[in-house]
Amino acid sequence: MSQNIGLVMRSTGSWYDVRSNEGTIMQCRLKGKFKIKGLKVTNPIAVGDRVVYEMEDEVRNAGIISDILPRENYIIRQSVHKTAHGHLLATNLDQAVLIATLDFPRTSLGFIDRFLVAAESFRIPTVLIFNKLDLLNDEQISYQHELTELYESLNYKCIFTSAIDGTGVQDFFNILKGKVSLLSGHSGVGKSTLVNAIAPDLDLRTSQVSTFANKGVHTTTFAEMFEIAHETFIIDSPGIKELGLADIEKEEIGHYFPEILELMNECRFHNCLHLDEPNCAVKEAVMEGKIAQSRYFSYLSMMDGGDNRK
Ligand code: GDP
Ligand code: ZN
Repeated sequence: MSQNIGLVMRSTGSWYDVRSNEGTIMQCRLKGKFKIKGLKVTNPIAVGDRVVYEMEDEVRNAGIISDILPRENYIIRQSVHKTAHGHLLATNLDQAVLIATLDFPRTSLGFIDRFLVAAESFRIPTVLIFNKLDLLNDEQISYQHELTELYESLNYKCIFTSAIDGTGVQDFFNILKGKVSLLSGHSGVGKSTLVNAIAPDLDLRTSQVSTFANKGVHTTTFAEMFEIAHETFIIDSPGIKELGLADIEKEEIGHYFPEILELMNECRFHNCLHLDEPNCAVKEAVMEGKIAQSRYFSYLSMMDGGDNRK
């Protein structure tokens, strides 16, 4: 039997759609004694994994996965019960792309910051897309510019788009080109419309096709990968609005705010949490306007275990 390397594009938990190097989709299952070490997750393989498979049935394009290549990174959704196994959402991501809207619906800064922290904790770079530019009034547009200045100063690229009049749609595509990107955002922000503008043949809303392999299986918690252009992959995770945090302790949250990380060695206490401690360089920077209040509020809310997911 010949061995091949392929890319996992979709998974139902028992079957995997694996893209061969030639671009054919194989339906694969796991080899019986397949074991994965290390991660505490319910699913051993996720979208984005590069796997070794053997052809089992050339006619049906069926194969058997026998091994998995080392991962660059991964994102896991932790179970609400800390001790239980998490769910592996996707692996080997080049970037996360968060689609937000200042209005209709409003994406809160708390939600954006929480997403950025989660992505940092998984060591995945994030690009922010602000869509529905056409709906903003002058005041909102200048606020939009302020936000862009803030996030770009923290090294998060920002793009303005309007899926309706086409503004920034080419920039959106350029960001994705040649990469594997996780697309996220609240429902209603225009994710499907934007993707449709650059990949008209793909309709994210109706993409949950059922095949013989996953009939009747509930797939909404599984992410799915699409090749929208040559070597350009997007991962859509219907039903998953936010990245869970990696398994991190409170003391670590500040490490994932780049502006806090930069200053924390200047605090008087090496284990300063930047809350009520004296001589805290972070709080001083907030006071002096060097750290944005909104970012510090997001930090406090996350330290508080607050739920700023909306
Ligand atoms: P999704 O839930 O994020 O996939 O959102 P959809 O793509 O379904 O879009 C939700 C609604 O917003 C639809 O009525 C779209 O036509 C509309 N929409 C999407 N992008 C834009 C935009 O840039 N400007 C305006 N005015 N409406 C948009
Ligand atoms: Zn401090």
